[in-house]
Amino acid sequence: MENSGGKGLSLARRLYASRTLGLALGLLCVSAAMYPLDPAPWVWGLMVFNGVLWPHVAYQWARRAKVPFHAEHRNILVDAFLGGFWVAAMQFNPLPSVATLSMMAMNNVAIGGLRFLLVGFAAQILGMGVGGLVFTPTFIPSTTPLQMFACMPLLIVYPLTLGWLCFRQATTLGRQKRELLALSRTDSLTGLLNHGAWKDQLEVEFQRCQREQGGAIALIDIDHFKTINDTYGHVAGDIVLRQLSKMLKQNLRATDVAGRYGGDEFCVILPGMPLNSAAATMEALRDRFASLGYEQSPGLKVSLSIGLAAFDPTHTDATLWLNDADQALYEAKTTGRNRVICRINGTPCHELLDPV
Ligand code: GH3
Ligand code: MG
Repeated sequence: MENSGGKGLSLARRLYASRTLGLALGLLCVSAAMYPLDPAPWVWGLMVFNGVLWPHVAYQWARRAKVPFHAEHRNILVDAFLGGFWVAAMQFNPLPSVATLSMMAMNNVAIGGLRFLLVGFAAQILGMGVGGLVFTPTFIPSTTPLQMFACMPLLIVYPLTLGWLCFRQATTLGRQKRELLALSRTDSLTGLLNHGAWKDQLEVEFQRCQREQGGAIALIDIDHFKTINDTYGHVAGDIVLRQLSKMLKQNLRATDVAGRYGGDEFCVILPGMPLNSAAATMEALRDRFASLGYEQSPGLKVSLSIGLAAFDPTHTDATLWLNDADQALYEAKTTGRNRVICRINGTPCHELLDPV
């Protein structure tokens, strides 16, 4: 309920501006057509009410309504009805009539699509019927030059304004779409790519590695993270996760792709990097992370187990590459943790990490 109210309110605000402008310009056009017909004072009064006061009344009405969206729906029908009424009052003078009806139709289709357009037409026809009963139903076949000039502001300014509003809305929507897409690809805790987005990127990099010179991927898992959570609390655990992501961002190249695979597991693609360089990078990361201190949790030391796998041209898909890194990580865990294990062509290669 709250949402539909909010949505309706922003629509009411948008319509307030366009209605104020459109009806003021419409008043100029209609009064030029009405003037030679010497209308009664109440007709002038109604014209001024419709052209000047009605936009404010309509806005306040919508603002105070329980569901502003529905109130605006009704206001638009009132607009259309009165439009039809003035067309009959102008005795169907061609240019002011077409200008009035088409500007309203443009507004209606922009707001509510075909349904609003058709409902608006029906209200306009009803307005013409009532106008035909109130005024003598006659047809004036020609528009004078003065009446034509009086219609110009409506015909020029109103479509320009509406077009500009539509453009502005499309720009906002485009920006929001990009922001949402970025959010849907980001892990909210660490700001790294989330599981799905990283896997998508892995597919892309796998294809590139097949065409170019290879690369490596690493799976990084925090050792005994459950115990860290249990001992220091989940907030401290979150700080450790953020610290690791920060270190990844600071220590990787711009072309490397880091993500949070899930829980306390992180993943990195190192495109084009030979396995020995990748091993040195990961070893440096492991070493630096192990020596980090945490202000909020003195005494906390955190180690990493890292599984590293070189791109292998015999891999038929990226999953096999990932499996290699997973097996390397498993080996790092089962052989004592706090270490980097590499695999190349599906087999471990410990010599890469021998001290230089
Ligand atoms: P190992 O050394 O074998 O990796 O053991 P571990 O305790 O790190 O591994 P395990 O998979 O048993 O525990 C991972 C823990 O990570 C369990 C889960 O509660 C915790 N975890 C997952 N996501 C989050 C998170 O976003 N924040 C925090 N604080 N903890 C998390
Ligand atoms: Mg772990």
